[in-house]
Amino acid sequence: MPLTSPWRSDFPALAAFASEGQTYLDSAATAQKPQAMIAALTDYYQHGAANVHRAQHLPGERATRAFEAVREQIAHWLNAAGSEQIIFTRGSTEALNLLAYGLEHQFQPGDEIVISALEHHANLLPWQQLAQRRQLKLVVLPLDQHGDLDLGAAAQLIGPRCRLLAVSQLSNVLGRWLPLAPLLALAKAQGALTVVDGAQGAVHGRPDMQALDCDFYVFSAHKLYGPDGVGVLYGRPEALARLSHWQFGGEMVQHCDYQHAGFRPAPLGFEAGTPPIAGVIGLGASLRYLCSLDADAVANHETALHQQLLVGLNARAGIQLLGTPQVALACFSVTGVHHSDLAQLLCEQGIAVRAGQHCAMPLLASLGLSGAIRVSLGLYNDSSDLERFFNALDQALELLQ
Ligand code: PMP
Repeated sequence: MPLTSPWRSDFPALAAFASEGQTYLDSAATAQKPQAMIAALTDYYQHGAANVHRAQHLPGERATRAFEAVREQIAHWLNAAGSEQIIFTRGSTEALNLLAYGLEHQFQPGDEIVISALEHHANLLPWQQLAQRRQLKLVVLPLDQHGDLDLGAAAQLIGPRCRLLAVSQLSNVLGRWLPLAPLLALAKAQGALTVVDGAQGAVHGRPDMQALDCDFYVFSAHKLYGPDGVGVLYGRPEALARLSHWQFGGEMVQHCDYQHAGFRPAPLGFEAGTPPIAGVIGLGASLRYLCSLDADAVANHETALHQQLLVGLNARAGIQLLGTPQVALACFSVTGVHHSDLAQLLCEQGIAVRAGQHCAMPLLASLGLSGAIRVSLGLYNDSSDLERFFNALDQALELLQ
């Protein structure tokens, strides 16, 4: 049965894409924005931008109030104990780099950092660089034959030298949830810090920090129908207290003379310089929009559409799905066809999908692939998008196979 999205008209970009013949199927890379979020950005600029935390004037107080209200809103959304646990960053990538610099002095040479084999480069390279700077060992947890994390191997590999475990909540390639509860328990049993990359996971279910019980959690606004250039780092108070300051500049300082300075604690001590004020306000609006929707209706729509995508892909000869995705995306390769040739032919027919290594080069290499195509759905997609995709795919495959 053809599915329509009741939320499609909330997203002006979908109409713009339609008028230029584009079909957007790349929401796991970045999602389109609801009008309510665009209006919040415009409203902030139209009614007067002002810097936060530093001005003794009405526009400054107004901007600070709006900015801090979003911190409260996010603490509530994440079920965090307090808003001082929420640090605004420029994205998940910056949040993970903040951690890799901020925790540097917690390690001794020979200590181990444990990640999984499916990490996005954003949750691999900052730790790889840290390991090189401090002579640490980077331990990689393998996957089993289904593409799931091998918990038996993890129990062997997370040993007494493990000082930190950093893993994704949900794979951006395989679309599968990681078994975080047992994994984090293994790390905690060794006294290690735990970091969860929620860049993909936060989109598919409200993250609950009490239930997850990790030390740090990061996500990006732009994948959550919010603006780009904004991310969040959540930390448990005891874990935040172990962070050294990493970027230095305005508003993160408590006192300063020419030779010395003392720094504020979290969150402001980790938000040096002018933060992405409009973006934070936009993130607040995108979360308000999402929370106003019937979460079950959204999940049911995405699941049903995902099913249509999987059925369509499985029905076509030569298509190999990468694993069994649990959320509304699918990565695949085609026997004898180079992913970038296929992506090019899809692009020429107005289909926007992601092709390549998906910022997870080691994972793709371990699967014996130089790249793959990823189709990812947002709550605004519907069956007509999939119909156009499959028509274009059939034409492309006819030329290439
Ligand atoms: N982790 C995962 C799993 C991701 O999918 C992404 C974005 N593709 C990131 C981290 C990095 O997020 P950002 O580019 O917003 O910093």
